[in-house]
Amino acid sequence: MTEKSEYRQARWNVPLIFEKTSTGTTSHQFPEAEDEVRKSVGNLDSLIPKKMQRKKPPAIPEVSELQVIRHYTRLSQMTFSVSTGTYPLGSCTMKYNPVINDWAANLDGFAWLHPSQDAATSQGALELMWELEQWLAEITGMDAVTLQPAAGAQGEYTGVMLIREYHRCVTEECEARNEMLIPDAAHGTNPASAAMAGYKVVVVPSSDDGLVNIEALKAAAGPKTAGLMLTNPNTIGVFEKDIEEIAAIVHDAGGLLYYDGANLNAIMGITRPGDMGFDVVHMNLHKSFSTPHGGGGPGAGAVGVKKELADFLPVPRIVKQSDGCFDWDYDFPQTIGKVHGYFGNFGMLVRAYAYIYSLGKRGIRAVAENAVLNANYVAHHVSAIPGFTLPYSRDAPRMHECVISAETLLNETGVSAMNVAKRLLDFGVHAPTVYFPLIVPEALMIEPTETESKQELDVLVSAFREISAEAHSDPEKVKGAPYYTAVRHLDEYRAAHPKTLTLSWRMFQKHEGIDE
Ligand SMILES: *Cc1c(COP(=O)(O)O)cnc(C)c1O
Repeated sequence: MTEKSEYRQARWNVPLIFEKTSTGTTSHQFPEAEDEVRKSVGNLDSLIPKKMQRKKPPAIPEVSELQVIRHYTRLSQMTFSVSTGTYPLGSCTMKYNPVINDWAANLDGFAWLHPSQDAATSQGALELMWELEQWLAEITGMDAVTLQPAAGAQGEYTGVMLIREYHRCVTEECEARNEMLIPDAAHGTNPASAAMAGYKVVVVPSSDDGLVNIEALKAAAGPKTAGLMLTNPNTIGVFEKDIEEIAAIVHDAGGLLYYDGANLNAIMGITRPGDMGFDVVHMNLHKSFSTPHGGGGPGAGAVGVKKELADFLPVPRIVKQSDGCFDWDYDFPQTIGKVHGYFGNFGMLVRAYAYIYSLGKRGIRAVAENAVLNANYVAHHVSAIPGFTLPYSRDAPRMHECVISAETLLNETGVSAMNVAKRLLDFGVHAPTVYFPLIVPEALMIEPTETESKQELDVLVSAFREISAEAHSDPEKVKGAPYYTAVRHLDEYRAAHPKTLTLSWRMFQKHEGIDE
């Protein structure tokens, strides 16, 4: 199918919900129940100790239930999601989140559980977390797992702190080993996490194939090396075929290997970081394991380690006792401490558990196989379109994603990767990640994920074909895109600048000088 998409995003003029406030309007009405309570306890306020009572009511919008529903439905019609169309945002793994995950997370026994509840009344939840730890350890080839970190970046920070603690307690070279080796194609969070943990970041250049440059790695590794942070398959979507040699170089120098497993989508059920020689790994449950993410929503960045590092993991750890019951254990004197309140984002853990449970061992492997198949299908067809090329390791298969360069298109027509990305929106396809990794000029990083069908991938490919033709015949048209989205040209500078960024009603009021 090659005809143009008929995608049109809704355009509502939606005020802020605070601006819809009308004093006294509520979205709940339980007059009889309230009368009953009042009859038995008197004034409701008297239930709250005097010093904890508010001086003025909280500033929340006073709106009806229907107003709330319409408000958010309209906003949802003005945004793009996996439920709307293909979302090939490279490195972010925007796969479909099965509804059964939400069903499981919303079961009363999980959803109404309080984190301060004692272990005796939370056995089901503890068992779920314990089992999830085992499964993730099995999938990654590690010995122990913590579910505490709330994001990939926080998992990285936790993992790097574990490496630091290892050097403090085991090699006793914490001071001397102050360098973290990181390839130039790495995700930006890698150097950020290493720097936050106090390390000097040493950049390892890529080879002409876009892989780790072995000679450069040998030159960089030495007595100052605390570890190497690596993604495999790497950021251009190619498997580091020399991973065993890489691991040996780092280990021989006395360092540890950190696996950025934000995306396990290419390898799960097929190969394991633990078997490649890695000592620490974080995995984004909100990517590979289908818990919803985006817009800063809740994440889960579980961290797995080899047994040499297990004593340093955050507390509390879940333990299974000899009587088969589960409990929290805080007694790990070498722990790096807590990295999150309570036990992590529990709702995300239930969703990841439901996902793995429903797929099973064979299903998990099939996910990886189909993710790889889809990325190669896209790489093959898009790189055959005039203006687009597949740089680096041209003949190596892609793994879960591919990085296409629009450099030729830019030179031929003046249409950039950013223009292409914005025009794609008009076809009902979310823009890929652009200008990343930095080693590819005019990069379009496409990760279709296994949940897109061949029909949907054909829509994506034909959109690229259409845009290439447009760029050659009418480049100004492509540069003017998007045309069919709720908002058209965002000011990217203002949208990201702390001076103008207003993320909450309170920030907005402050910004506009409105009294609270
Ligand atoms: C997404 C991603 C991260 C960071 O994960 P967050 O949950 O966004 O903090 C790190 N590394 C890679 C390769 C990623 O794709």
